Amino acid sequence: MTYPVKPMSKYDADIVITYNGVCHTDIHMIDNDWGMARWPLIPGHEIVGHVINLGSQITDLKVGDVVALGCMAQSCLTCEPCIKGLDNICADLVFTYFGDTKDETGTHPHHGGFGSYMRTDGRKLFKVPPSIEEKYVGPLMCAGITVFEPMRHFLNGTDGTGKTIAVAGIGGLGHVALQFAAKMGAKVIAMSRGTSKTDFAKELGAHELLDTTNGEAMAAAAGTIDLLIFTASGGFADVNQYLTLMKPYGNMYVIFHLCVCFFVNSRDYPSNNLHIFFVPLSSHFCGIPAEDVKFNVMPMVFGRISISGNPGGGSGDTKLMLQFAAEHDIKPIIEVFPHSKANEAIQKVRDGTIRFRAVLKNDLV
Ligand SMILES: [Zn+2]
Ligand SMILES: [Zn+2]
Repeated sequence: MTYPVKPMSKYDADIVITYNGVCHTDIHMIDNDWGMARWPLIPGHEIVGHVINLGSQITDLKVGDVVALGCMAQSCLTCEPCIKGLDNICADLVFTYFGDTKDETGTHPHHGGFGSYMRTDGRKLFKVPPSIEEKYVGPLMCAGITVFEPMRHFLNGTDGTGKTIAVAGIGGLGHVALQFAAKMGAKVIAMSRGTSKTDFAKELGAHELLDTTNGEAMAAAAGTIDLLIFTASGGFADVNQYLTLMKPYGNMYVIFHLCVCFFVNSRDYPSNNLHIFFVPLSSHFCGIPAEDVKFNVMPMVFGRISISGNPGGGSGDTKLMLQFAAEHDIKPIIEVFPHSKANEAIQKVRDGTIRFRAVLKNDLV
């Protein structure tokens, strides 16, 4: 299909899309799992392209630049989070394909990256460092920033020397998290059910793999972890088991996938998980637990342990993440499909058989 593009604003940029990642959020929106899809629905929030036209007020980009767009199409730019580069928590955040952008030309629905071209607010585009191949950028804009953000905030930077970072779950998010943690210089522990992924986790930078089904190994690991990042969406029942692993002042980080976390209201993700997301200053959650999360506060209180979550990452952290990924050659593992075969890619993501992120290459223009 074609759709009429909004009038050009002085803040807009037109891009020709080169690659676009496929995320589980796209599938949830296509299936209208959260009851908030609007048709025509053009999903896609892991977008890479080349600038072909710019509004008069966008002066930090030029035609030909390689740029990326993630989950955030627009934010107010004036609130405290926006000013601090934490626009991922702006109250007026417009998501890439479920909201309306506003500018001097009016209010218009914003569409995602499953397309050939895009007109979008140029102030939310990120320049892609030239050393990152374009096909890898999309998943970094979603999975990458979502796991980078808690590390950056916990470490107050990107130096993990002397810290132990554990990543629970070695999938779409976890396999990128292990790479970031290793390149930050932390001691990295991959956590998985069973030991079958040991060699793979080590290839990604893990120093060891902790089998969460092995009681002895779990007991031996008690009190050793500074930052624990949950990327697993299943097997989440016993948070207490994980709390015992934390060092005093440790942070358990359960990372809700950005777009999902605000609308946790489907059959898969009961809304009562939301309270974890809003626990302030707290362990970090990256996949979404499918069941309620219950835990004993005593180890949390006595260990001064916090539990928290993050909705993706803001502009400041996204810039830093791209730069860090470029410097350290961090690459998601992807399967590339021509855009004309988007349905095949979607089906593989739906079936859970993608290893680990699907990326569409624009073959339509
Ligand atoms: Zn996503
Ligand atoms: Zn704002």
